[in-house]
Amino acid sequence: MQQANSSIRRIVVVGGGAAGWLTASIIAVTHKHDDNISITLVESPDISILGVGEGTWPTMRSTLLKIGISEEVFLTQCNASFKQGTSFYNWQSDKGENQYYHPFSLPFRYFESDIAAWWQGHAAEQDFAHAVCSQAALCDNHLAPKQRQTPPYAGIANYGYHLDANKFATLLQQHATTKLGVQHIVDHVDNVVGSPSTPIASIVGRQYGAIEGDLFIDCTGFAARLIGQHYGVPLTPCSHVLANDSAVAIQAPYVDSSVDIASTTHSTAQDNGWIWDIGLPSRKGVGYVYSSAHCSEDEARATLDNYLKHDKKTTDVDVSEARKITFTPGYRKTLWVENCVAIGTSAGFLEPLEASALVMIELSATHIAKQLPRTLCECKAAGRQFNNAFEKKWERIVDFLKLHYVLSEREASAYWRDMRDQRGCSTQLQDWLTLWKSRSPISSDFELREELFPAASYLFVLYGMGFRSHYNDTYQANLHTAEQRQAYAKHVQSIQQQLNGLPTNRQFLNQLAQSNCTQMHF
Ligand SMILES: Cc1cc2nc3c(=O)[nH]c(=O)nc-3n(C[C@H](O)[C@H](O)[C@H](O)COP(=O)(O)OP(=O)(O)OC[C@H]3O[C@@H](n4cnc5c(N)ncnc54)[C@H](O)[C@@H]3O)c2cc1C
Repeated sequence: MQQANSSIRRIVVVGGGAAGWLTASIIAVTHKHDDNISITLVESPDISILGVGEGTWPTMRSTLLKIGISEEVFLTQCNASFKQGTSFYNWQSDKGENQYYHPFSLPFRYFESDIAAWWQGHAAEQDFAHAVCSQAALCDNHLAPKQRQTPPYAGIANYGYHLDANKFATLLQQHATTKLGVQHIVDHVDNVVGSPSTPIASIVGRQYGAIEGDLFIDCTGFAARLIGQHYGVPLTPCSHVLANDSAVAIQAPYVDSSVDIASTTHSTAQDNGWIWDIGLPSRKGVGYVYSSAHCSEDEARATLDNYLKHDKKTTDVDVSEARKITFTPGYRKTLWVENCVAIGTSAGFLEPLEASALVMIELSATHIAKQLPRTLCECKAAGRQFNNAFEKKWERIVDFLKLHYVLSEREASAYWRDMRDQRGCSTQLQDWLTLWKSRSPISSDFELREELFPAASYLFVLYGMGFRSHYNDTYQANLHTAEQRQAYAKHVQSIQQQLNGLPTNRQFLNQLAQSNCTQMHF
């Protein structure tokens, strides 16, 4: 029986997917000078990792830097490329082609002026993203966010990555075990010692027997072996708000090695969901995420097949081999119980839109690493704080994802009519939509200390989707100042400089591969 004043020294992470290895690495590096802290990661030899999360946020740069992985090693070993945001195709309506960007860089003069109100005076000339953010032009031209000589993890434009999820988990494992002192046990956890109302004393592996610990981190994916199966914390489903619960995913090689690598995740609306299309250096990762209540698996495969048949960049693939994945969209409201906390898909998963899963892992692991309780007694208070903070983050993600659907004018299928139904919106989202009819989103609309999506993200989605705020005429006229005109002229000039000075993603990654070959040769 553990005592309330027992120290937290032995941290046991269960699960060896991206969640497990990122969490183990972040805690290990944060506590590298504390010899009392040990980190053990246990993963089952029988259950493969999910291996489909291929889009990251810019936060991954600081995470990789912090845990000590070189950017060149990461890009090379994970078959990674740069992600500068998302391009949404045909989300606005199903009548004719339409497209908009949600880039990672902020609009110009974002902090100094009401850029959205100013833009609405020019909306007929240019869409929001192209008018206010140089990154849209970079993405049009498949440009890298940096030059070869730009320092690692720094960028001329803000960026995250597209990566091969299996290669990423392998790299993290190698790094955590060889450089960060994380112990690795390959064993299936069959049993948990402790009752659902007490702290866990140990977990029991089939081969290894008891593995004792003071804090247990459940990174067992959808199985949720500790938080769900042992502690019985239910998943709160969100299917009434976000209906997608299935995906068919496939890897499609390029027709040749000179094909442009896209700078954004392409997200193309379909009758019963949307298709993601992610460009890595040697192949694409493409998948259709859909609602099984509205569409059969056969229909989903046919939709994916049709999309791929029209893609000139990739070779023919057999969609009958596409991997089927099912999930219940939702999250656990209680993520930390006693001395056990869930991170990754054991905590929840909504859907791949806006790729918010890996960033939640980074944030959760960083929170725990920084606020590691010292005793079991402190665990309860730390757990309450964690649960409060992360429940709000999950709510925010639900709101932001729902926003993409409710703003749509697609109406040909029952799926879109259901997803657009504002009755599925939280009161918060409904309030925002009411207020934004007469003004743009502003930072003070979002009061969390660590907001996942800043007001800028709402601006890009709202105005990209065709939403318009009806400003007071005098207010809007006053924004057209000489200062604003000068700033805009400079902004246009800087776009041209970036277009002239940046290599394409393909050029950047080829040069990187060549310099690696040269280094290996000599
Ligand atoms: C269709 C789809 C697309 C996605 N796209 C993105 C994206 O673009 N960006 C993004 O950020 N995220 C995305 N995600 C989410 C992302 O894939 C996951 O967040 C990420 O892979 C982390 O998964 P995980 O580590 O939590 O679980 P998993 O990868 O499933 O790992 C679970 C681990 O637990 C182990 N385990 C399970 N049970 C036991 C046991 N009893 N004993 C021991 N070990 C056990 C397994 O062996 C495995 O090692 C996507 C998800 C889906 C479904």
